[in-house]
Amino acid sequence: MKFASVAHAFEKIEFISSRLEITGILAELFSKAEKEEIGNLMYLCQGSVAPKFKGVDIGMGEKLVESAIASAMGFSKREVEELYFKLGDLGLVSMELASQRKQRSLFSRELSINEVYSSMMKIATSGGSGSQDLKIKVLVDLLGNASPVEAKFLTRFPVGAMRLGVGDPTILDALSIRAAGDKSLRETIERAYNLRSDLGLVATILFEKGIEGLKGINVEAGVPLRPALGERLPSAQEIIKKLGKCAVEGKYDGLRCQLHKKGDEITLFSRKLENITSMFPEVVAAGKKLNAKELIIEGEALAFNPATEEFYPFQVTIQRKRKYGIEKMSEDLPLSLVVFDVILIDGTDCTVKPYSERRKIIESLIEENNTFKLSRQIITDSAEKINEFFEVCLEAGLEGVMAKDLSAQYTAGKRKFAWVKLKRSYKGELADTIDAVILGLFVGKGKKVKFGYSAFLCGVLDPEKDVFRTICKVSSGLSEEELIGINQLIKKDIVSVKPKEIESEIEPDAWVVPRYVFELTADEITVSPVHTCGRNTKSGYALRFPRIKGGLRFDKDPSSATTEKEVIDMYKMQSSVEVQD
Ligand code: ATP
Repeated sequence: MKFASVAHAFEKIEFISSRLEITGILAELFSKAEKEEIGNLMYLCQGSVAPKFKGVDIGMGEKLVESAIASAMGFSKREVEELYFKLGDLGLVSMELASQRKQRSLFSRELSINEVYSSMMKIATSGGSGSQDLKIKVLVDLLGNASPVEAKFLTRFPVGAMRLGVGDPTILDALSIRAAGDKSLRETIERAYNLRSDLGLVATILFEKGIEGLKGINVEAGVPLRPALGERLPSAQEIIKKLGKCAVEGKYDGLRCQLHKKGDEITLFSRKLENITSMFPEVVAAGKKLNAKELIIEGEALAFNPATEEFYPFQVTIQRKRKYGIEKMSEDLPLSLVVFDVILIDGTDCTVKPYSERRKIIESLIEENNTFKLSRQIITDSAEKINEFFEVCLEAGLEGVMAKDLSAQYTAGKRKFAWVKLKRSYKGELADTIDAVILGLFVGKGKKVKFGYSAFLCGVLDPEKDVFRTICKVSSGLSEEELIGINQLIKKDIVSVKPKEIESEIEPDAWVVPRYVFELTADEITVSPVHTCGRNTKSGYALRFPRIKGGLRFDKDPSSATTEKEVIDMYKMQSSVEVQD
């Protein structure tokens, strides 16, 4: 398959906003790929060369990319920089200069998708001395053989700004259409994706073995699965009404962690499926001692004070997510993993077992010590007992409780009533926070003008349509340092035209590629004539007096932001909540 077909499809997609049309273009593109190309094509569609959990980043500094463009197109670095200043997108610079190219590659050849993939992989994985020159050389070679449209996308891969506005749900739909002509296979394809978190692998199996092949996919130690998520209900009474007799556990406020064991090898993954193994050496050491050859368990990692036997709050635990000074931190602020689920043990796929059985497995597996603990649990059919346990949990510094359906399977990647969370609600504050994505920026006024942008247009996710809809404009809750840091960080993601995955009626001073998540609280959810979240013909929903909690949440990504449906459910729940002072 020629890379030109990919570039032309991407070019069309960039300027189309209809999801239906985009899905159609992708499905057609997928049908041109051979079995040995489809995996690579999947990654390139995601702007990457590997599934996210492998942590392979094509990333090349802008200065290096500018050098490559200059060298491939026969312009000076100065000319490239000036055009970049004018256009604000190195992809467009590359396209423009390719069309006025002063020098042609001696052996001009058509680029294939596999060649582009291998070159990007080379750029991503070369390190050490001489690697900068190598990266430039590889990109120059590709650009030297590229048409203007190809050059645009070849340049955007290494700067990490594809700007296609296509998320996983659209790709999953397109795969189903490619295989069956409609969306009927989406659920099976998505199940496989939820268990393996790797679209390249899923598409390759689909192409090689068909949908039956995908049905046979299972969890595997060492490969993260997309985590199960909980729903909300407003009270213990509602929980009993919904679940009947259920398990109720403490809701620990730390970092979700998947522990994988394969022989002696331990791998840890975050909720976003980043490999965080090196960050938590004490959990790795304790994991090696677990009595299983092959294992996947899940828990909440929290900083723990062995002297007082208390967990620290989230703001303390989050300090353990660092790249440097790990050993010292693990001594000063040791972590405990509060285990609450098991997914795989010695060849047995536990995802299909009811929760009551999974709990028995972890109870016999985990011997409690400073590193491993079991989530505290009661089993009850009484709302009163839940409320009592809830108070005990709050007193122990936990966030609330998680009720669990004793008969439910583990549903990877899904928000289901298998788990129901209950948190304390305060007067004048939402019962739960909202993970909202930054969509736009407003220049500060008065004293804040010196910080640049100081208010943020935020939105929630519609995972079906793969779009973000606005829910509030927020400016409070950030320190001056945080504001400066965010302005610095977000600069590279500012775009002049509204990204098509954003549905907004508000025009901010600048648009931002949806990439960053704030955890927001607010007084309440109100009906809004201006915001597009949950919008029917007349009105949508907005947050009243929103405020940012704890700065940017790097442990969350836009695809796991609060959904529009959750906001609507929370709005409905609001009136029935018993408010406590
Ligand atoms: P929040 O932002 O309220 O922490 P969330 O949006 O991160 O929630 P939810 O699905 O609402 O995710 O809540 C599930 C999270 O609660 C899990 O990701 C896990 O990290 C945490 N958790 C804490 N204790 C438990 C428990 N006993 N069982 C399951 N999950 C738990």
